[in-house]
Amino acid sequence: CGIVGYTGHRPALDVVLDGLRRLEYRGYDSAGVAVLDGDGGLAVERKAGRLANLEARLDEVGRDTLTGGTGMGHTRWATHGAPIDRNSHPHRDTSGRIAVVHNGIIENFAQLRAELEADGVELASDTDSETAAHLIARIYDGDLAAAVRTVCRRLEGAFTLVVTHADEPDKVVAARRSSPLVVGVGEGETFLASDVAAFIEHTRNAVELGQDQVVVITKDGYDVTDFHGEPVQAKPFQVNWDL
Ligand code: GLU
Repeated sequence: CGIVGYTGHRPALDVVLDGLRRLEYRGYDSAGVAVLDGDGGLAVERKAGRLANLEARLDEVGRDTLTGGTGMGHTRWATHGAPIDRNSHPHRDTSGRIAVVHNGIIENFAQLRAELEADGVELASDTDSETAAHLIARIYDGDLAAAVRTVCRRLEGAFTLVVTHADEPDKVVAARRSSPLVVGVGEGETFLASDVAAFIEHTRNAVELGQDQVVVITKDGYDVTDFHGEPVQAKPFQVNWDL
C-alpha cells in the first residue's frame, strides 16, 4: 500500500517511520521496516496492525538495533495472505540478506511459488510478495540492480518493489510496473516513495519513474534504466504544493 526508501546521512529508521506516518491516510493493516547498518547487517521488524504496534515492537527490541543510513518501510493492504505478522513486509530470502517490500499484486505468484518450492525453498509467508525475495536471491551474483531487473521481467501484474541487500548497503533498488514510484533528491540523501507526501518535508526535487523502470538510489543521486538495463532519461519535477 505505502512504500518509503531512504539512503543518506540521517538515521534511516527515523526518516522511514516519518514517511510511513505521512502515508497512513491511505489505510493499511500492517507495517514494517528494514535498516542496513552498513557493516553487513540487515535488521527487519514488522507488525500487524497500526504503526503504533510497530513502534511498540521497536521499543521492545531497542531502536539502536536498527541503526544505519539505508532503509525502507512498508504499510500493507493485504491481498494475498491474512494481515498477520509473518505476512507483513519486508520479506527476506532464506539467507536473510535480501529484503523486499512490495505494493500491488504479482499475478503469476502461484507458478513462481511452485517453482521455488520445487527448488527446495521454504517460504515463510502466504504472500505473493515473498517470491520476489527468493527469485532475486537465486540469481544474485553481486549486482542487486541486475538481479532485480531480471526478476521483474518474470513478474506479471502490478508492482512497486523496493529491494536492499546487506552486501550493498549504500543503495536501494526499486522497480515499478503499473504502480506508483517517485524519487526524492536531497543533498547527500535520496528518497523513494509511493507518494511524494512521504518525503516532501525533506525535499521538493522529485523524479517520476515510468512504466517498467528500475531505479538505483545512493546518497549522491539516482540512476534509471528499463528492465533490460538500457539507460532511461527520467523526468524531474518540482513539488510545489503544500500538505
Ligand atoms: N500483495 C501484497 C500482499 O498482500 C502487497 C499488498 C500491498 O500493496 O500492500 O502482501
